Amino acid sequence: EFGEDEGDEGDLAIRPPVVTVMGHVDHGKTKLLDALRNANVVDKEAGGITQHIGAYQVTAEVDGDERRITFIDTPGHEAFTAMRARGAQATDIAILVVAADDGVMPQTVEALNHAKAAGVPIVVAVNKIDKPEADPTKVRGQLTEYGLVPEEYGGDSMFVDVSAKSELNLDKLLEAVILTADASLDLRANPHQDAQGLVVEAHLDRGRGPVATVLVQRGTLRVGDSIVAGAGYGRVRAMLDEHGDNITEADPSRPAMVLGLTAVPGAGQTFIVVEDDRMARQIAEKRESRERAAMQAKRRVRRTLEDFMASMEKGASQELNLILKGDVSGSVEALEDALSQIDVGDEVSIRVIDRGVGAITETNVDLAAASDAIIIGFNVRPQGKATEMAEKEGVEIRYYSVIYQAIEEIEAALKGMLKPEFEESTLGQAEIRAIFRSSKIGNIAGCMVTSGVIRRNAKVRVLRDSAVVADNLDLASLKREKDDASEVREGFECGLVLRNFQDIREGDIIEAFEMKEIPRS
Ligand code: GDP
Repeated sequence: EFGEDEGDEGDLAIRPPVVTVMGHVDHGKTKLLDALRNANVVDKEAGGITQHIGAYQVTAEVDGDERRITFIDTPGHEAFTAMRARGAQATDIAILVVAADDGVMPQTVEALNHAKAAGVPIVVAVNKIDKPEADPTKVRGQLTEYGLVPEEYGGDSMFVDVSAKSELNLDKLLEAVILTADASLDLRANPHQDAQGLVVEAHLDRGRGPVATVLVQRGTLRVGDSIVAGAGYGRVRAMLDEHGDNITEADPSRPAMVLGLTAVPGAGQTFIVVEDDRMARQIAEKRESRERAAMQAKRRVRRTLEDFMASMEKGASQELNLILKGDVSGSVEALEDALSQIDVGDEVSIRVIDRGVGAITETNVDLAAASDAIIIGFNVRPQGKATEMAEKEGVEIRYYSVIYQAIEEIEAALKGMLKPEFEESTLGQAEIRAIFRSSKIGNIAGCMVTSGVIRRNAKVRVLRDSAVVADNLDLASLKREKDDASEVREGFECGLVLRNFQDIREGDIIEAFEMKEIPRS
């Protein structure tokens, strides 16, 4: 089964952390990735040109040990989120790049939220410190407000001042990544099993056919292995590393460009090694149809508050993820504050994974899709393709303009999760043939039961020309001939009086129904 390390505890070996670089546009993500790649130039063979294959490994010296780190070579959080939306988590640690001359900007906060939502530790690279106007202290202060407190201030986040341009302190940044990994993650995998992992990037090469950069997560991938990657399969014909050199095997956390697949897989899809080509083909075909069905199902199924209620199993604790967007920061704060006051017991908790001022953006929808969150819009509307995307991804957006209304609805939904659910079932219908007016007991409807049964204690609604004119009513009385009846069946006449509704007419249909409790699965 995918995702399991096989073998004994003793088979597990330390694997390098996999790092994604995120941050605001122009803060130096690309430059930093380039600088780190070049700084490691000593390791590659003379004359070789470093290639962009989607990921690369560097070595760092920490406490006298040579340690490896894998970088996903696509800056920004789009790739990160796209992978998470597929349910894949490639990243162990995020480097948050913040330009010291610009400080924390909207995409800095977005990146931070994406990493937090994924539960990925963050190392902050305070970049561009070569610039005279750089103010690294200010960056520390700003990020502290977002819960990233530097170690030197007593927090547990590592901040490193760097210059991607002058290649300053890059070694310190790598060291911080290793120290963070060692302190908070248990990065081990069994190299002695068939390989499994993720596709980081793939394309169709004119000369070489489908080419996929994969990241091995467990086991060791070897030339000659039969693999399935997304809808593609085949025997690994050759593997190249980030220097364009041929390699024969790749161990956990090692990126490798794989040749020999029949089709181009998607980023974030998994690959596995299987027994032989025939098996590979069978699995690939099954996977493709299953993936297609799953994607369609995901789009059809909206994750609504009600779905969340339904998914809630008794006794299991559940988190409701919310993204708050408001017109002004005051309203967002007030909303978040009010939400934190909601007391729904231990079984349910509300987690605000992102908040912000302004329209609901595609990035908001992206994060919601990846984190199964609901977006709350307070006096704001979606922007650009956000609505379209939300429809496609099945993300629910709720709009409010009054805080207490938002709170009431969310509270009611959360509390509702703990109560039984009811389902309506129709009992029968009767047609009003005559009306007898009585000032004492109300208007009496002389009816013919045309289908099913009308019960004295059932709920009823009144239909006129197929429209509902009154709903969820009780009967004040039900008579068959002159006698009170507990029920009257199809084909019989009856007289009935509705409680709190007297505006009945000849030809109206009285529909009786009952609410049945449906057991939770
Ligand atoms: P990205 O959008 O985050 O990928 O940013 P880039 O890596 O493209 O960098 C944006 C601009 O900032 C480019 O002009 C870089 O040359 C410049 N830049 C990046 N890092 C540094 C740095 O450490 N110092 C200075 N002075 N400029 C930098």
